[in-house]
Amino acid sequence: MERLISSVWLFCEVVIGSLFLNAEKGGIDLHSHTTRSDGYLSPEALLAVAADRGVSALAITDHDMPLFPSMVNHPTVQVIAGTELSCVWSRQTIHIVGLNMTVSEPISDHCFEIQQARVRRAEEIARRLEKLGMTGALAGALEESGNEQIGRPHFARWMVKQGHVKDMRAAFKRYLGAGKIGDIKSEWPALAKAVEVIVRSGGIPVLAHPKQYQMTNTKLKALITDFAAAGGKALEVCNGFQPRDQVEYLARLTQDADLLASAGSDFHGPEAPYHFPGGYTALPGNVRPVWSLWE
Ligand code: AMP
Ligand code: MN
Ligand code: MN
Ligand code: MN
Repeated sequence: MERLISSVWLFCEVVIGSLFLNAEKGGIDLHSHTTRSDGYLSPEALLAVAADRGVSALAITDHDMPLFPSMVNHPTVQVIAGTELSCVWSRQTIHIVGLNMTVSEPISDHCFEIQQARVRRAEEIARRLEKLGMTGALAGALEESGNEQIGRPHFARWMVKQGHVKDMRAAFKRYLGAGKIGDIKSEWPALAKAVEVIVRSGGIPVLAHPKQYQMTNTKLKALITDFAAAGGKALEVCNGFQPRDQVEYLARLTQDADLLASAGSDFHGPEAPYHFPGGYTALPGNVRPVWSLWE
């Protein structure tokens, strides 16, 4: 199965990669997912693919689940400790990537609590979907999750398989995305708590994909101010193949707030084939990369 996924995805990569001639390939990738959250490859398989693409350093940043270098091994790819914490700011779900944490209580206790909250949330999502006639939602999503972490993408995959929606995108648009019936964010901790936990674990908090929150520029600047005040250190200037003008805008915000810049593919798997390990729009030269802290 993994072989089939790899071939399909390699094909898409070649076709779509040719559209992004200024895309950076290989190098350092500080945002990626595996089967430990909602990715399609195991950490070992992801590392193998990343190595094939010439990635030299990879942070595996599964949702609310840290991965430390001591947990996986690769001869050529340096593994950077990582996670992507779910939290709430101004009633909106925000993601904070944590890099370089040490194995410690603050991060493990925090993630343990979120995993329990995820189970409660999944039960509530299932109840709501069942009311709409989608019976068996919880069992189906749990099966999709492989009994590892459960999240909305697992419901989405099950809904596609059941024929309730035509694809993942439609599942989010109609049932699971922001403001829809399956979007339950009351369980997430506050942004300041997520940032604090990463700092107390010796890590670097990064505001993930700032342009994905659909905020006005004024609101985004307020978010960045609060993030920095809480101890945030970097903005994710490059998230996959974002349009060049967005990347340049985020680089300016990074400079204005005196923060560092991070970059990553946010690779999950062939579900979004234009993402691949090490693949993101090139980082502008006018910002200081977050990896300068440890290189
Ligand atoms: P959760 O962690 O359960 O809140 O699920 C959030 C995850 O759902 C994100 O990290 C994405 O991987 C995925 N996601 C969010 N929006 C969409 C979308 N419109 N289409 C497909 N996947 C999405
Ligand atoms: Mn995800
Ligand atoms: Mn995210
Ligand atoms: Mn992510």
